[in-house]
Formats: sequence, C-alpha cells, structure tokens
Amino acid sequence: MNIQDYKGVFVFAQQVDNVLSGIALELVGKGKDLAKDLNTEVTAVLVGSDIKGLADELAEYGADKVIVVDDPELKEYRTEPYAHALASVINEFKPEIFLVGATAIGRDLGPRVSARIHTGLTADCTQLDIGDFPINPVPGKEQLHNQLLMTRPAFGGNTIATIACPDFRPQMATVRPGVMQKAPREAGKKANVVEFNPGFTPNDKYVEILKVVKAVSDVADIMDAKILVSGGRGVGSPENFKILEELAEVIGGTVSCSRAVVDAGWKPKDLQVGQTGKTVRPNVYFAIGISGAIQHVAGMEEADIIIAINKDETAPIFDVADYGIVGDLNKIVPALTERLKAE
Ligand code: FAD
Repeated sequence: MNIQDYKGVFVFAQQVDNVLSGIALELVGKGKDLAKDLNTEVTAVLVGSDIKGLADELAEYGADKVIVVDDPELKEYRTEPYAHALASVINEFKPEIFLVGATAIGRDLGPRVSARIHTGLTADCTQLDIGDFPINPVPGKEQLHNQLLMTRPAFGGNTIATIACPDFRPQMATVRPGVMQKAPREAGKKANVVEFNPGFTPNDKYVEILKVVKAVSDVADIMDAKILVSGGRGVGSPENFKILEELAEVIGGTVSCSRAVVDAGWKPKDLQVGQTGKTVRPNVYFAIGISGAIQHVAGMEEADIIIAINKDETAPIFDVADYGIVGDLNKIVPALTERLKAE
C-alpha cells in the first residue's frame, strides 16, 4: 500500500427508503471541515436503488462530489452487497479518510468494509480532527502530520481515547449520530455526480429479504426534539413522570430520561440519553432529578441551554448547567408548569 496514493475525504451517505439519514448530512458537514484542513474535497457515497435524486441534497449540504452506486440489488440494506459496493468504491477511488455513521447499519457495515480492504476502524467516534501523531512527540519516533485523530470514549466512558491509523489507508471511523453539525444548506446547488458500478457476483447476494416489518412507535424521536424534559431516578416512580409530561406539554417538549430510569423499567430505552443511549442537541434540555454522571453528560452537553433541577446542590449536573435550581422537583416542576401555563 502506498499511502500517498490515497486522497480525499469520503463519507457514506446512508439512506433508508430513499430518505437521507440525518447522519449522512452530519458526516458531509464534518467531512467538509476535515477536507478543508487537508486541502482536498469531500465526496459522499450514495448507495441504493433509484437514489440518484438524493445527490443534489448532499451537494446542498456541502458535498463536492457524489458517487452514486445505484442497483436494484441495493434496494434494502443487506450486509454483503453494501459491503461489496463500498469496498469497491474505496479500491477504485482510494480515499484518504472514509467515514460511516455509527447507526445500526453503519455498525454492521463499517467493520465488514474495513476487513475487506485491510485497514483499521475506530468505532463510535465523538470527535474527529486533523493533527500530528503521536500527539506528544516521542523521542526517536517520527511524528506524522495531517493524520486523522479519532476520539471516542473508552473503558465505559471513564477515559477518552484518541486513536490514529498511521500505517493503513483509508483511515476509517464510524461516527456517533447527533454529535457532528450539518453545514448550512445552500438551496439549489447541483451535485457533481459520478456513477459507479461495483459489478455484483452471485456470492454477494446470498441473503434474501422475505419481509420488512417496520417498528411501530408512538414516541417522538428524542434526537429531533428542540426541547427535552429529561427525568432521572430522582423523579421517584414511573407515575411521577406525569409532572414532567405536563411540563413538556406546556412548552412543546418531549420527555427523555437517564439510564437509571430505563434500568428500573420506568421508560423505554428509546428515550435514554447518554453514552449508551442517544446523543441529543436540543435548544433546551431540562435535567430533572438527574445527578449528571459522565455517561449521561456525554449525551447532552451540546444542548444550547441546560436547566438542572436537583435537591443536592453538589450534584455534578450543576457543573454543566446554564441555569440551576436547587430544591425538590415535586414542588418546583408543577410550579414551573403553572407559571408557564399562565404566560
Ligand atoms: P442518580 O445518579 O441516582 O441521581 C438521581 C439524582 O436525583 C440525584 O442527584 C438526587 O440528588 C436527585 N434527586 C433525588 N430526589 C430528588 C428530588 N425529590 N428533587 C430533586 N432532585 C432529586 N447513564 C445515562 O444516563 N445514560 C447512559 O447512556 C449511560 N451509559 C452508561 C454506560 C456505562 C458503561 C456505565 C458504567 C454507566 C452508564 N450510565 C448511563 C449510568 C450512569 O453512570 C449513572 O448511573 C446514571 O446516569 C444515573 O442516573 P440518574 O442521574 O437518573 O440517577
């Protein structure tokens, strides 16, 4: 492998049912920043069937080029044909960096692709930078420039590890949804499309999808919410979440929770914020009866405004809160709801 032959930042533009996933646009946004640092371009790789129409949207969010792999075999996600498509794109175009969303699909696909092309993969990254490696120079060891520095929580969130892949290309990472920012949309921008045919072989088609059963949920996705009213163990019981629901209703918010609440069986896992839950970035995040453990904070610290209500003034949640109210949530939350109702 000649590392110098690999150029450009590529991102997998995940789509489901011909709708781009949020992570696709987040990766284009981050890829654009990385490409700028490397003085190169960001290319989105769009894989599916009849998906060419999505290319312009990727361009509007910053993709300099869109490689379209369009084949009826790729209509629904299946590991083998998708891994073959991406590995073929990488072998043909030789990107320096290749990013995939750490979604259910990306977590399945990323390692398969990296194994096929014999490179490393850093999973579930929460930060990506271009920089020197090793970060601190080691006597007698060459310091390499312009490396992808991939940062992710390790050891159950107790430490943050920054990982590089100096000897292989592309440098591959899966990236947590909700962490990176989309670039502002430039409406009307047309994509520079390159069509690519990976050439399927019969071995790539061995899983047949008989039926797709969609999950039915009446719960709003907390990752899309502008206001989250999040409750922790301090709420005391599943019934007492009613006071949070009333507050959420008055301010147009959505209820979410800590892991302690999910572990107790009070709320479903879909509503969990944090390292092993969802990463959220609402305009306003209420943390009510939540202590502020590092694993919880990892999922909500990027909220624009954090309002904490806790009876313990030393609770770590106050370290990240913009506004803090010390007191009993059973008194404060209903009073707040009444006050806001009156406004
Ligand atoms: P507690 O820590 O028990 O805090 C309850 C708080 O409520 C306290 O601060 C208390 O002062 C306050 N309180 C109690 N009664 C009242 C009252 N009447 N009025 C006002 N305040 C009151 N956690 C997550 O949330 N998300 C994750 O994704 C996650 N992932 C994890 C991954 C790993 C590998 C590990 C080891 C842990 C993870 N955790 C996660 C768990 C995390 O470490 C904490 O245990 C958890 O966040 C605690 O939840 P809590 O704040 O609701 O409960």
